[in-house]
Amino acid sequence: MDKAKELLFKRLQALRNNYIDDYPERVLELNMSWRELSKDRTNEDILETFHRQAHSLKGSGATFGFNDISTLASQLDAILGSLSTNKQEPGIDEDKQITILIEKLGAINLKREAQSEPGATTKKEEYPDTNLLMVMSNKKETENLNQQLNHFGYNITSIHTVDGLAENITRLEPAAIIMEADFNGDQQSGVDAITSIIKDDQTNFPPVIYIAENDDISTRINAVRNAGKHFLSRPLNVSDLSDIVEVISRKDQDEPFRIMIVEDTKSLSTFYDITLQSAGMKTCVINNPMQVLEQLIDFNPELILMDMYMPGCSGPELATVIRQFEAYVSIPIVFLSSELDTGKQLLAMQQGGDDFLTKPIDPSHLITSVQTRSLRYRKLRAFMVRDSLTGLYNHTKTKELLDKDLYRTERNNGNLVFAIIDIDKFKLVNDKYGHPVGDKVIKSLALMLKQRLRKSDTVGRYGGEEFAVILYDTDINNALQVMNKIRDSYASIVHKAGDIEFNVTFSCGLAAYPYFKASAELNEAADKALYEAKESGRNKVIVASSKQS
Ligand code: GH3
Ligand code: MG
Ligand code: MG
Ligand code: MG
Repeated sequence: MDKAKELLFKRLQALRNNYIDDYPERVLELNMSWRELSKDRTNEDILETFHRQAHSLKGSGATFGFNDISTLASQLDAILGSLSTNKQEPGIDEDKQITILIEKLGAINLKREAQSEPGATTKKEEYPDTNLLMVMSNKKETENLNQQLNHFGYNITSIHTVDGLAENITRLEPAAIIMEADFNGDQQSGVDAITSIIKDDQTNFPPVIYIAENDDISTRINAVRNAGKHFLSRPLNVSDLSDIVEVISRKDQDEPFRIMIVEDTKSLSTFYDITLQSAGMKTCVINNPMQVLEQLIDFNPELILMDMYMPGCSGPELATVIRQFEAYVSIPIVFLSSELDTGKQLLAMQQGGDDFLTKPIDPSHLITSVQTRSLRYRKLRAFMVRDSLTGLYNHTKTKELLDKDLYRTERNNGNLVFAIIDIDKFKLVNDKYGHPVGDKVIKSLALMLKQRLRKSDTVGRYGGEEFAVILYDTDINNALQVMNKIRDSYASIVHKAGDIEFNVTFSCGLAAYPYFKASAELNEAADKALYEAKESGRNKVIVASSKQS
């Protein structure tokens, strides 16, 4: 495949994966609309939303090759469309049909289907691997690092010569290269080896982490000039190295931005929609401004593109209303208008807009404006929901996500396991080696959990040296196995305080849905099991038995 085709293929694959991830949410929306319509049967707005949801599912299902979804959704679309045009409320027959169709749609498990497809990329749902290429002359040092990094779930290929470097990079497509700058003790040879292959292909070259004996400014500058994103001097600390690798290969950087498009003219909204999607963003189109509020909660956008003139209300009016809700005080709102009068533009900005784009809008201009603002907003949000030391979700956010995942699990009749992890005798680590070393130990566990668990799992920092993990769509036996493997790995990590090396362990309590149903029950049960693990000697994973409670 040539590069352009490959890129397009990857993009489509990513869109399809998003669709698979989101499908349960789409069914949830259908269920909610149907519930609302059942309560308020003559409400045309609800019917319209419901119809639109079915309609979009009909189109999108087939687009991504899920024909069974399209078949069911198009039956639903036909029923709702006819009710909508005739301004009818659903009769007994329609009631039954709609209920059955939604149930059938709900029974489709796309994740499972995608996994059983021949040649399907199941990577997303597997426990992930990140490829690293390590180029170091000293075999013993390499072996040591290799072993330690392996515990974090990195897939490492090491070579001890700079020959064949280019071939290895092409073959492995590593997330990063760990390169000895002073290869074989020769000050420049490692950097030179990179220089010689980087010349023609700067842009797609993987980031290089240089390692050197000498930490002087000229070595560092030379490294920066040659794809050197990071620099470490000896003696090496594995948690520093894995920290850097994690930043470089971080997965949530790839999460598409969620953009809401509020525009009454359908051809325009479609144009924005396609433009933003082609840049890998996820969109939610709203043609009726009155539906913005309900969609806000469901879609949780990171930016709103808003038309200035719409039937029912103006863009600035709607922006003011949105900003009256605490959760949306800081969401970027970008107005779209053919308004050339700068006075009017200014007025619009005063009424809660962040930017003003003039129609007709050049697609690449639209993409960059939206991307930069969304990125800034995402960073801002990260401070609010993430813990600053580890980058994990904080306590409040973790609990919120547990509630969400439980709700989904309940609907899908699925499994879920909640884990609470606590580092053993951590106070001793602080007392013996100092707080900063203690911080590194906490960070290394955060990294390992993030790296070793799946994308669909959630990792949060629950308290000081306490973590919580939500293992989504996982049964208790698997969860026990996974957590025990991580426990083993973590116990083998060598931590360093100056020249002193030491090991740390953790204990873990597991509680499984459906044995425990509510999030408070899961929390309490996992906590109890953790306490048992501590009492019975630590460095253990214990499953909460439902009989006890
Ligand atoms: P146990 O095996 O029973 O869990 O023993 P422990 O020593 O780990 O438990 P304890 O709760 O007595 O001590 C936890 C310590 O963690 C106390 C607190 O000072 C320390 N701690 C909490 N947050 C942080 C942090 O962010 N950084 C560092 N370095 N230490 C922290
Ligand atoms: Mg308009
Ligand atoms: Mg504790
Ligand atoms: Mg502890």
